[in-house]
Amino acid sequence: MILLAHVLGNAIGLRQGVFSATKSAFLFYQAAQKIMAVELTRKSFTPYAAKKGEEYMNAHQRRHFRKILEALKSELSQEIDRTVHTMQDEATVFADPNDRASQESDMALELRNRDRERKLIKKIDETIARIDANEYGYCESCGVEIGLKRLEARPTATLCIDCKTLDELRERQVAK
Ligand SMILES: [Zn+2]
Repeated sequence: MILLAHVLGNAIGLRQGVFSATKSAFLFYQAAQKIMAVELTRKSFTPYAAKKGEEYMNAHQRRHFRKILEALKSELSQEIDRTVHTMQDEATVFADPNDRASQESDMALELRNRDRERKLIKKIDETIARIDANEYGYCESCGVEIGLKRLEARPTATLCIDCKTLDELRERQVAK
């Protein structure tokens, strides 16, 4: 009898183990898909091919970066819509407090992601406004050209690489 209970206990433990492994694999899959989606947008854009002696941030270049920013924005908006729908679908009340706790932490994570996505959208809007005001592509701190290469990798960059590096060093000093 004791042995049977032991075996049963193991079987249950095993099943829970399998369950949580499946669940974390699923969460990993979800996260991987998100990363892939973001990278796809980046990859589908051919970097701007500047002609020799071409003027920095001329109308063509401004149009190129505007297109990238708008595509990133619409992708983020779709991501937010999807998250809202997923959360509505998953709003089941679990009887098991453990399930409830993990559901709550999943949702907290989703909400944080959404908050981050909203902030990114705001940043993209501000960047597009800079394009329209003909201020895009110049460092907010020292005024030099940020450069096409850096903007291609980080279309919302507002600082040149030198000012950004200084900024990060300062931040690290404050954090200490
Ligand atoms: Zn600078």
